[in-house]
Amino acid sequence: MWVSFTVFLLLSTSALAVSLDGFNEQELSMRQSIMQALNPFVDERKKLGTAPLITFEELYARLTPEQIAFLEEFRAVDPKTLAGSSRRLPLPAPADRFVRLDRQVVLRDGKPVLLDAQYLPEQAFSAYQRMMAAMERDLGRRLLVESGYRSPAYQLYLFLFYMPKHQQSVRETNRHVALPGCSEHGSPSHQAIDFITPEGINGEDRPEEFEELQEYGWLHARAHEFGFFLSYPRGGDSAFEPWHWHWELTPGGERSTFGTIRGTLQARRSERIRDYERLVS
Ligand SMILES: [Zn+2]
Repeated sequence: MWVSFTVFLLLSTSALAVSLDGFNEQELSMRQSIMQALNPFVDERKKLGTAPLITFEELYARLTPEQIAFLEEFRAVDPKTLAGSSRRLPLPAPADRFVRLDRQVVLRDGKPVLLDAQYLPEQAFSAYQRMMAAMERDLGRRLLVESGYRSPAYQLYLFLFYMPKHQQSVRETNRHVALPGCSEHGSPSHQAIDFITPEGINGEDRPEEFEELQEYGWLHARAHEFGFFLSYPRGGDSAFEPWHWHWELTPGGERSTFGTIRGTLQARRSERIRDYERLVS
């Protein structure tokens, strides 16, 4: 009888969902063992500039069945049970193709610094290029991509990575980092871009200055023409993020821009092929 009771206990424990308001001892050591197994792999991919494209298969290949089961429970967390406006977004499709941006230079403390390689889904990249050409015509200025696509698997890793900074609580961490599957940065049909100016004005370090930029005013006036929208306006459910805009395939835009998208991509390809390396996810 005791044996069956113990088996019952074990089964019910393993079937329990992830604790949302702070990891218990078991979950803490599970998280730690997962990070130990994944850190060297992710660090290597960061060096190669390909961390944003990491897949679940690549993560899981380095983990035990128990660790994988834990991460699957984690992925099953319903965003609606957490505060804020988290929601699931369409996941990337196997056919999605990404453009790599790895020649972006910004000033930091007056010195030119190369940004980490960024990725955008092909269509969002084309729309971004067209929008920047228009901005350049109007203002003589451009915005760069500080953060583009991040795969849901990389988002899962980042979420776990940042948990110690937020009391090991899923609910608390979710106020600062989106759950995997809930980030516009990981959803090609709603692709988000965090913009940065060539002078280094961005959301992370200089958010108030970003709102004052003439580029920001321009985005308000014209970004919708290219299918870009401000995701977190002032006074919404989430904190105001003037630098974070997302692209979506708009019904009008789909017909009127598709030919131009193709043309722009082909022109870019032949013109500056060395600047951008096309990758298949
Ligand atoms: Zn963002």
